[in-house]
Amino acid sequence: GFKCGIVGLPNVGKSTLFNALTRTAAAQAANYPFCTIEPNTGEVAVPDPRLKQLANIAKSKEIIPTRISFVDIAGLVRGASKGEGLGNQFLANIREVDAIVHVLRCFEDDDITHVEGRIDPVADAETVETELMLADLESLERRIVQFRKRGASKDKEATTVLPMMEQALALLQDGKPARLLLKGISAEDLAILQGLNLLTSHPVLYVCNVAESDAATGNEHTAAVQKMAEAQGAGVVIISAAIEAEVAQLPDEEAQEFLADMGLDEPGLDKLIRAGYELLHLITYFTVGPKETRAWTVHKGAKAPQAAGVIHTDFERGFIRAQTIAFNDFVTLGGEVPAKEAGKARDEGKEYVVQDGDVMLFKFNT
Ligand code: GDP
Repeated sequence: GFKCGIVGLPNVGKSTLFNALTRTAAAQAANYPFCTIEPNTGEVAVPDPRLKQLANIAKSKEIIPTRISFVDIAGLVRGASKGEGLGNQFLANIREVDAIVHVLRCFEDDDITHVEGRIDPVADAETVETELMLADLESLERRIVQFRKRGASKDKEATTVLPMMEQALALLQDGKPARLLLKGISAEDLAILQGLNLLTSHPVLYVCNVAESDAATGNEHTAAVQKMAEAQGAGVVIISAAIEAEVAQLPDEEAQEFLADMGLDEPGLDKLIRAGYELLHLITYFTVGPKETRAWTVHKGAKAPQAAGVIHTDFERGFIRAQTIAFNDFVTLGGEVPAKEAGKARDEGKEYVVQDGDVMLFKFNT
């Protein structure tokens, strides 16, 4: 599955947010209650209103959303790259995720200690990023030396892995994260970069944790974060962890009322889950029938056989073709049969690049 790691300095609201995430209606939707994989990992359903629309048309008995995981990665403090705090554990955990959700404290509260003694989310973000960059810098320098020592310059890796290491190193030495290499990267290079297991090559989403009264509007701190994120090409979500913690415990209707009173149209967690999904460059396709309407996750750019493989490896191996109906056609025409009659059910082959919202039916050899 796909994993977002939740990071941030102590006392910024990571655990509050993680606990809310794992208790929310979205997490408990359909037949997928939040499930604990490890103590700090939770799987949540990706909220998607299209599921209900499709299920209504097909009169499906069941709706099964797709899921992503969140990991609460505790222990980042100044000096983590040198093994301070839970340093090493932290660094090991963060290497396993596909994207980073970076929680920043944007609320004032004299009762909650800030580790640096002041509220400054942009400086906090820099503190965290600096630790991650230092850890990457050291590990790269070490690996490049080893690489050269064992005469690796002769093997094939020397033409692919070493140049990538050197590019990343040059950025880090310049005080910049390795994720800058992601921009416009080819699929081949992306695989090489990911293989380096760097901490700063993951895409980042900033979550501004604000006071309840600022949830709808943001505040001066969130404005500063937004400016920083824009310069980095990172995403931002404004959330009040305190509100989310309350909403997660309310029945659906009461939750809606409570949110409306706060000037919000949906739980911040829904926004966060969707943003995490986008951050990972994931898209959704659907399988639709009387038994169930189900959402499946693939990487942007995935081809039809790979999409089939998400359901079952046999589907990928024996892939013949995929009957494909665009979501809008399926809904406006009123289902599979009318879509077929209107000529909107395409037979797609092995090279078809799956589009977000495609309703697919795979034909395969067993
Ligand atoms: P973590 O160390 O980042 O996991 O932070 P926690 O989630 O444990 O939160 C630290 C403290 O801040 C707890 O006492 C929370 O109740 C409190 N807290 C978290 N979010 C908010 C918030 O939005 N507003 C206020 N006032 N307190 C919060």
